[in-house]
Formats: sequence, C-alpha cells, structure tokens
Amino acid sequence: MRRKYVVGNWKMNLVLSEATALVEGLKDGLSKDLTVDVGVCPPFVLLAPLSKVVAGSPIELGAQNCYFEPKGAFTGEISPQMLKDVGCSTVIIGHSERRHVFGETNPLLKKKIQAALAAGLKVIYCVGEKLDEREAGRTEAVLHEQLHEVLGADISLAQVTIAYEPVWAIGTGKTATGQQAQDAHAYIRREIEKLYNSQTAQEVRIQYGGSVNAANAQELMSQPDVDGALVGGASLKVNDFLGIIKGAMAATGA
Ligand code: PEP
Repeated sequence: MRRKYVVGNWKMNLVLSEATALVEGLKDGLSKDLTVDVGVCPPFVLLAPLSKVVAGSPIELGAQNCYFEPKGAFTGEISPQMLKDVGCSTVIIGHSERRHVFGETNPLLKKKIQAALAAGLKVIYCVGEKLDEREAGRTEAVLHEQLHEVLGADISLAQVTIAYEPVWAIGTGKTATGQQAQDAHAYIRREIEKLYNSQTAQEVRIQYGGSVNAANAQELMSQPDVDGALVGGASLKVNDFLGIIKGAMAATGA
C-alpha cells in the first residue's frame, strides 16, 4: 500500500517569523495518529533555521530546487550537499516554474535528479502539460517526453516521488477533476512500468498538484493512482494545509 504524501511548496513566500509561526501551527494541529507523510519546502534561506523548528516532528523539510554540481564557481546556485547539511531530506526538481519561467530542460533535470539522489536526498520530480498542450490532445505526449527523457535505468526510483502538476491548474484555482487526475496518473504509472517494471510502477508514489485545497483534497486523493498532493497556495495557511492533510487521511480511510 502506498502511503499518501502531502507536501507544501511555499515558492518565494514568507519571511522567517511567518514561516516559523506556520510550522509551529502545523506541529500543533497535526494528528497524533498521522497516517500520511507530510513535508514543507520553504525558500533556501529559511531551511537552516526551520530545520530546528521541525526537529522532533513528523514534518519533512525539503527544498524547491538545487544545482547538480557539489560545489564551485556557480554563482547563485545551491548544491544537494548544502541542502543535506542544513537538514533537508527532500528536493523538488522540475517544478513547472523552473521549466517554464527559468527554462530548465529535461537533460538538465536528469542531472539534477542524479546529483540529488547521489547526495542522499529524496526527490519529487514534477511533470505536467500546459493548457495549449492539453487542448491540442498532447497531454500524454508531453508526459511521455518528461518521463522518458529524464528517468530510466540510470535513475533508481526508490527515493523518487513523481508529482503530476498540469500547468493550467497551478495557482489558477482550476483543479483537474478526480477523473482527469486519475487518467494522467494511470498513464504515468503505465509508462513507469515500461521504463522499469511492474513492481516499481506499483510502488512509486504519484502526487497530484494544481490548486489543491481542503475542499477538493479528499476527492482527488481518493483516486486509486493519486498518492498525495503537492500544494502551493493552500500550504501557506495553517488551517488550509491541515485541512488538506485531513483530506488525505480521510482518503486512506483514517
Ligand atoms: C505548486 O506550486 O506546485 C502548486 C501546485 O501550486 P498551487 O497549489 O497554488 O496551484
């Protein structure tokens, strides 16, 4: 059974005092019998201080990006080793804003995933189609490219979660229906089976992301191939994020 996994991607939001209050609020509000995995991905500069705030709680600390080199003359970049050093366990790679605002390509993302895994980080690898691609009936073709050009025999999926994030649903308030999410997740799982094998396909967790909120979380995560959520806007408010975690737990029958 795949355990649901709910992660907040804070993007470029919150200063230290706000971030500390948010994490303290989550710690207070999380069920003592948590049946899902939970994480937050703050901006880089908040990682070191927040690693002390999450310590002893079930909240995983993740970063939103990293570079693939361990160190050197790469002004403005952060290495996977630096993330490990400040207490991060996870890193998001290939978020649609990295792909479409910062021009990150599949070959670059492959290097980043390999470097993050080699440094002992878990990876959340994001894939998803843009609105024009969906409207042109190209959703599966785009996902195929994002999976086959990046994953494969040279990357073990044991420490990788895939996040399906249709770009048209990110930060827009437009959520995929449960059926749209399920169809895309089932396609991704079939492609993972082709790239690896059926056991890996059954074990890999696939999160949905795109305007997830407390009202739609349970329905989305009740889909058989939706194993959690990557949450942007709604992860910035304690009660909204706790509501999503509750939805995830309800989807597991807890
Ligand atoms: C995201 O940034 O990964 C995301 C899904 O954002 P939002 O929940 O705000 O749509």
